[in-house]
Amino acid sequence: MGDCQSLGNCDDSRIARLYEYLDGALSVEDINDVKNHLEHCDECAQEYDLECIIRSVVKRSCSEQAPDALKSKIMTRISEIRVEIRHG
Ligand SMILES: [Zn+2]
Repeated sequence: MGDCQSLGNCDDSRIARLYEYLDGALSVEDINDVKNHLEHCDECAQEYDLECIIRSVVKRSCSEQAPDALKSKIMTRISEIRVEIRHG
């Protein structure tokens, strides 16, 4: 499987669609398009996995009513991880 850049079909708008996909905000055609892309693009699949993890962590910390300090600590750590993955 090639990476996004060499496939030439992966850009910020597609990444943005990953989030819409997770939000359930896409049409059936768009969902299929995103799914199809995820199967062929490691970079986006990784981004998708990460976003899923982030959401479950945030959801859990919210339902457990984490104090604001902890929540912001989690969000800071999450953005650090994202930077590491993007640049690592
Ligand atoms: Zn991609």
